[in-house]
Amino acid sequence: MANYDAVIVGAGVSGLIAAKELESYKLKTLVIDAAPQVGGRLKSDQLDGYLMDHGFQVLLSAYPMVKKHLDLKALKTKAFSPGAFLFNGKESILVQDVNRNSLALIPMIFSAVGSISDKLKMAKLRKQVMAQSPAEIYDEKDQSTMAFLKDYGFSKRIIERFFQPFFGGIFLEFELETSSRQFLFIFKMFAEGDALLPEKGIEAVAQQLKSQLEKTEFRLNTKVKEIKQGKVIFEDGDEIEAQQIIVATDPQELIPQLEDSLDWNQTLQLYFEGSKGPFSKKLISLSYAKNALINNVACLSAVQSAYAKSGKQLYSISLRRDPGLSENELEAAVLKELYPLLGLKSKGWKLLRSFKVKKALPRIDQVVYERPFEESRLMEGIYLAGDFLLNPSLNGAMLSGELAAKALILNHQKS
Ligand SMILES: Cc1cc2nc3c(=O)[nH]c(=O)nc-3n(C[C@H](O)[C@H](O)[C@H](O)COP(=O)(O)OP(=O)(O)OC[C@H]3O[C@@H](n4cnc5c(N)ncnc54)[C@H](O)[C@@H]3O)c2cc1C
Repeated sequence: MANYDAVIVGAGVSGLIAAKELESYKLKTLVIDAAPQVGGRLKSDQLDGYLMDHGFQVLLSAYPMVKKHLDLKALKTKAFSPGAFLFNGKESILVQDVNRNSLALIPMIFSAVGSISDKLKMAKLRKQVMAQSPAEIYDEKDQSTMAFLKDYGFSKRIIERFFQPFFGGIFLEFELETSSRQFLFIFKMFAEGDALLPEKGIEAVAQQLKSQLEKTEFRLNTKVKEIKQGKVIFEDGDEIEAQQIIVATDPQELIPQLEDSLDWNQTLQLYFEGSKGPFSKKLISLSYAKNALINNVACLSAVQSAYAKSGKQLYSISLRRDPGLSENELEAAVLKELYPLLGLKSKGWKLLRSFKVKKALPRIDQVVYERPFEESRLMEGIYLAGDFLLNPSLNGAMLSGELAAKALILNHQKS
């Protein structure tokens, strides 16, 4: 058995970034994951000529960690159009970003999404977050996003029509209980960059990070049962010695002495094949109908044609909740909600697959942008990484990986 300077349990983006940092310090590193591939929550399947990510997920080009670690050109990313298409079964509203499309200014002033005062507040908030660093944003008062929006003076109308469906779909909870700090950070990221899809699906992000590793070894398809100081024990009873371990996943089940358990927001997403129509824009469509089952509809193939076979459109539909229906019933319920806009075209729509991601985003009491790297050390020789340590995002996951590696490297240099 080879001796490693460091072992990382978890090959999600946090584990991969940690490996990248350790490799740059020439540490001999082994990455272990239970899954057959790297990427963790970034997973994409090829099915019948369609590319399906597990849960609707976009890559935000403005994330500082994306700029630092990823080659977007090589990922051949394509962007959604800024803005959104809002619908409720009776009417629809086009929301455009006037900062990127000056022709949209006049229609947006009169748009039914909110009052003129709402639009002025939106512009003020945009200016405010663009002038702040992420660290400054996470130093702002911590309250729920909903409380923040009300305190800021946004009307019930714009909250229900835009903020709830848009940010509810990002936080995967629709009461907007998620911290206002997270809201302001994501709002800034949307203001400063694009929402992207890589040509080969969201998993390609993890594959690119893996391809940056030349010396790191991988043991996939290997579930870890327990982590002790100096030792990683596998489910099959085998074990390896490891003086320095990064746990890049929820450590609760792996380290018995930990008591706190994580809560998660979940998502139920459906993929439909369908024809061109009102939803085949590059815009994300959001339902603001009262008691709607649908949260958002995104025509992935309109943005990135590789997501569908030629001549077909692939639609991702994320629901607000899991209504506990069979696939046939879900298909019927979704098409009923889309019928006012699709009309007879809905006959050409067919449910291809559904994905339920139970542990999609960790619910975190105290979101932060960054922590002193020493805080990544859980105990002698064991360090933590993962989005749950900072904030639930790819940026948070990547940064947590950097911090854990830094803490490990410092200890390695001392010993
Ligand atoms: C549906 C969905 C939509 C999202 N949308 C966005 C978005 O639009 N923008 C954004 O920024 N973020 C989004 N996220 C969040 C983002 O994907 C995560 O923050 C990030 O991928 C987390 O990476 P991680 O390394 O912390 O954890 P994970 O990706 O969860 O990695 C943990 C790894 O540990 C492995 N593992 C766990 N237990 C064991 C064990 N016992 N033995 C061996 N291996 C083990 C797992 O197999 C996994 O590979 C979304 C997530 C989901 C699920």
